[in-house]
Amino acid sequence: MTGCVLIVDDVAVNRIILKAKLGSACYEVTATGSGLVALDMARASPPDMILMDLAPADMDGLDLCRALRADPVTARVPILVLSGPATRAQRLAALQAGAEDVLLRPVEELTLLARIRNLLRVAQTDSELTRQEGWCQSYGFAEAPAAFEVQPRVALLGCAPHLSLFWRRQLVQFCPDVVIDTPGTAEVLGASDSAPAPDLFVLVPEQGAVSAGLRVLLDLSARRATRHSMFLAVLPRGAEAEAAMALDLGAHGVLHLPVDPEEMALRIRLLIRRKRDTDRLRAAVERGLNLAAIDPLTGLLNRRSLRPRLERLARESDRAGRGFAMLLLDLDRFKAINDTYGHAAGDRVLEAVAERLRVATGPQDILARHGGEEFLLALPDVDLPEARACAERVCRAIEAAPVDLPGGDRVSVTASVGLAICKPESRCGAMSPEWMAQRLETVVDSADKALLAAKARGRNQVTVSAKAS
Ligand code: GH3
Ligand code: MG
Ligand code: MG
Repeated sequence: MTGCVLIVDDVAVNRIILKAKLGSACYEVTATGSGLVALDMARASPPDMILMDLAPADMDGLDLCRALRADPVTARVPILVLSGPATRAQRLAALQAGAEDVLLRPVEELTLLARIRNLLRVAQTDSELTRQEGWCQSYGFAEAPAAFEVQPRVALLGCAPHLSLFWRRQLVQFCPDVVIDTPGTAEVLGASDSAPAPDLFVLVPEQGAVSAGLRVLLDLSARRATRHSMFLAVLPRGAEAEAAMALDLGAHGVLHLPVDPEEMALRIRLLIRRKRDTDRLRAAVERGLNLAAIDPLTGLLNRRSLRPRLERLARESDRAGRGFAMLLLDLDRFKAINDTYGHAAGDRVLEAVAERLRVATGPQDILARHGGEEFLLALPDVDLPEARACAERVCRAIEAAPVDLPGGDRVSVTASVGLAICKPESRCGAMSPEWMAQRLETVVDSADKALLAAKARGRNQVTVSAKAS
């Protein structure tokens, strides 16, 4: 994994040793002994992570952490503190100031590199999400979702029942606002995808079975419901190789026994905060992507988002050896509605037609606004008689009742439909994107020609393409 690491350490020998270690692991490394220079460097070109001592030459290390966290440019860059013998208070203060972790010198190379890999992985996901969110914002697709905070939930997993209860009692003192559950591993692995997942799993594998206990991490991070949860592993004293393994398996933090309950509570809070931040970012991106795919007037898919869906439909139809149908539907004499009642009335008609189409079609059908007053409907797994019946049903649904307009008027609407069938492709092997694009273009073109024929024959009717039927 490549990544850009900024080292901040006032001792030149430390910088040289770290640089050599990270350089040989193929990271891009920059280094300075000054906290102020580090701040400038990080602001000018944010690194993927910062590896720092608590005592840079010219400023307090905690102040440096806080300054990095306070600046939006560097706020999300992970900070790993490497410290000499630090007191408990110093360690807690570093975590509170924004460090992801504090490792005490001398640090085993195995542990250090595993922690760095782990933080770089988190940073990459984070910067990808931040980039996507920026993209959504710049296109105006990032309306803030309603603030709705549910109480944070933590699951203590893997330890004997009496230990679970002990930990729970300890943690509740420091995290009274967090719900702490002690489920069995089988219960967690058997939970349904729709069950609410804990924000954080604290994994306490049994002595002597640490590696096996950690494998549950793999299971949980592969599951739909728990793949975005955080993981904190609590391991026996001196279990360095297992700590490295936990970090490589995706744990977001490791503590060694005996654990200080206050430190554990602090880490739990920090991980929950990070999880909530990332959830917010992810929700904003998801929402933005949905908005980018949807036509704002009708709520149907827009034309731009159609292509990948149609390609998937075509591939699935080929696999099943069944054809699919393409319907193009155009409102009849729609311009006259605009001319007579105004554009707002025309918009109302488009909304009403979209709603009638939604009701007349199934969840597996692809329904989109293809253009101004033109809609596209793709029906999977149908033959010609079934597709024709559906097209007739849609036509009848649109003309079924006049549409109520804003001023109190009512207007009748009809549509013409062109229908083409795309037969399954029996060729084996992957089809080139160009070939697929050509194939979809051909079937849409056939449906369009059929639509023109429906218009020519008097409108408010279905015509089947001669070519693709
Ligand atoms: P035909 O039966 O031949 O389809 O006649 P038509 O009047 O429906 O076709 P034409 O292509 O002449 O007119 C389509 C009109 O649709 C023209 C355009 O102003 C209008 N239109 C396109 N998009 C919108 C929209 O978003 N809202 C409204 N109100 N009108 C729209
Ligand atoms: Mg029209
Ligand atoms: Mg038209």
